[in-house]
Amino acid sequence: IQLGAGHGRRTTCPYCGTGCGVLAEAGPGGLSVVRGDPEHPANRGRLCSKGSALGETTRPDGRLLHPVIDGHRVGWEDAIGAVAQRLSAIIDRHGPDSVAFYLSGQLLTEDYYVANKLMKGFIGSANVDTNSRLCMASTVAGHKRAFGADTVPGVYEDLELADLVVLVGSNLAWCHPVLHQRLLAARAARGTRVVVIDPRRTATAEDADLHLPLGPGSDIALFNGLLLRLARGGLTDRGFVDTHTTGLEGALASAMAEVPDVAAVADACDLPVEAIERFYGLFAGTERVVTVFSQGVNQSAQGTDTVNAIINTHLLTGRIGRPGMGPFSVTGQPNAMGGREVGGLANQLAAHMGFDAASIDRVRRFWNAPRVAETEGLKAVDLFDAVGDGRVKAVWIMATNPAVSLPDAERVRAALGRCELVIASETEADTDTLRHAHIRLPALAWGEKDGTVTNSDRTISRQRPFLAPPGEARADWWILSAVGRAMGWSDAFAYAGPAAVFREHAALSAFENGGSRDFDIGALTTATDDAYEALAPVRWPFPAGGVPAGRLFADGRFFTPDGRGRLVPVTGRPMARGLTDAFPLRLNTGRLRDQWHTMTRTGRSPRLSAHAPEPAVALHPADAAARGLKDGALASIATATGTAIARVRIEDGQRRGEVFLPMHWTDRFTASCVVGALIDGITDPFSGQPDSKRMPAEVTAF
Ligand code: SF4
Repeated sequence: IQLGAGHGRRTTCPYCGTGCGVLAEAGPGGLSVVRGDPEHPANRGRLCSKGSALGETTRPDGRLLHPVIDGHRVGWEDAIGAVAQRLSAIIDRHGPDSVAFYLSGQLLTEDYYVANKLMKGFIGSANVDTNSRLCMASTVAGHKRAFGADTVPGVYEDLELADLVVLVGSNLAWCHPVLHQRLLAARAARGTRVVVIDPRRTATAEDADLHLPLGPGSDIALFNGLLLRLARGGLTDRGFVDTHTTGLEGALASAMAEVPDVAAVADACDLPVEAIERFYGLFAGTERVVTVFSQGVNQSAQGTDTVNAIINTHLLTGRIGRPGMGPFSVTGQPNAMGGREVGGLANQLAAHMGFDAASIDRVRRFWNAPRVAETEGLKAVDLFDAVGDGRVKAVWIMATNPAVSLPDAERVRAALGRCELVIASETEADTDTLRHAHIRLPALAWGEKDGTVTNSDRTISRQRPFLAPPGEARADWWILSAVGRAMGWSDAFAYAGPAAVFREHAALSAFENGGSRDFDIGALTTATDDAYEALAPVRWPFPAGGVPAGRLFADGRFFTPDGRGRLVPVTGRPMARGLTDAFPLRLNTGRLRDQWHTMTRTGRSPRLSAHAPEPAVALHPADAAARGLKDGALASIATATGTAIARVRIEDGQRRGEVFLPMHWTDRFTASCVVGALIDGITDPFSGQPDSKRMPAEVTAF
């Protein structure tokens, strides 16, 4: 929608899963002018520091401008031909599972859809995974166990309608700042209580009524104890539980076996009994409770069980599907949800369908596909292990930087170095991953792309272009479609534009659905190009003949075969990695307020970089003193997989025995502070999500 000179074009912020609307237009010198979109329901005109600095990040310098093969600039025709020919040759020799795509929550839904269709429907492998595996895979697995589908029940307004908001493993103030602003505004108006459950005293914890700095890996014990307290206190919603759920007895038995009383919870969580009693009292005494959870829950070897421990408490009390109530996952990335919707994870097929026989047949008929993948593919960590040992001989990486962001990053780099064919679709001319690519394909960036994204409360929004593409950069859906046609599937990949891709995606979501699957946007199947262009933010499900959804499960019907929500018996397990004399500290990793991922975009803004110019490792004063470390000095952080160098930051908000290091820096910015190199490949057994927050480590003077 053109809003006229001085107002800008309506688009969506490319950073966190809040999904704020932005009004943007080209400015002088390659810069842009941005402001919050007052009409977007996620932010109503607000932007955080990262969003408001977007205009500083759109300069074309440093961009990848032309296709490159083996170091030589080529035209698109040669590049597409080479990708198709080399992939086909490897598939012919070694079979479909010898190739893989590694995607990104930065991709638009249309890009994701075409990538998934090409690999899972036509190449015939499910080796499509994404950096969203590092972001919210544990939530996906937990949702499916509890609800029978990967469904976020609530909407953002619930944070404003709640009387108690519990934030678990979420530094909302820095990682979803506009949502935090909305929460604080609601709190000022209605006195919302806020509890933060996080080992660190974060900016979010500073604002809380109660902060529980629990020991690492003890969230399940805390929520199992809460489940028991609620049941013993007569807070079980018998009508809801008996009619709409199963599994209560098993969940209570597991909780009882783990933490029979609050003293056991206190022991497991390393918290005072009084603090736990206060939290339990607040939760028990407040009907309208929203429990928000994010990477502190997801990025754990027990992430899926932790998600279910949280959901159990809401199912027990029937506090779900009603205003101001429910468990609420907030995603890290702008389109982690959109990727899930098209099947961007290796354990999904498409449109929230799995690899059951009926879904495989349905997708085969819809795509008229020659060979639909029939089993799950390799999840991110396993995928790059397979690259390393030669099972996967070709990998196409799009819009992400696994050479620094995946666990055991040095191993990933070595794997890419050995790989027969690495293709990278990228906006930047130099990234850590691009250095390993045989074929480099210039992709569009934010401001140039045209498509849709889905935020954490299921709202689909348009990203619209307002800048001319630099050089020969092309949309990812266009590149993928051209390769699909060059591989021999002309009809299946003959899209006229992103609107055509979106219509097909919408039609697949509705195909033989009839309300049996949660993701259904059938009402958008007939959107004309003009309607797609003008599409206002809309929340799914939105079936044909229906209205866009609000919060879900209001009727107590879930997407399990019997329609009941499931309380899942969960028990905390000992942490996968033990501390040793050599590595006696726990390394926690995470985001800073003003940087995004590996800084390829936010690193362009001097204003954002001023917040934290260098990486710093945060230690408790006693841990620093025991090691003779002074604030501001250089220190070496070592784990069993790697080392990094950072400034010492002494913080009494750190728990003793735990250190924190931000995840953003790469070799492009510092000599050696690649957090991915410090983390091993331990993953959650259900979700495959890496545990990035509890690595045994030591910090010494450099
Ligand atoms: Fe962008 Fe998230 Fe900030 Fe909104 S809160 S402006 S989506 S980074």
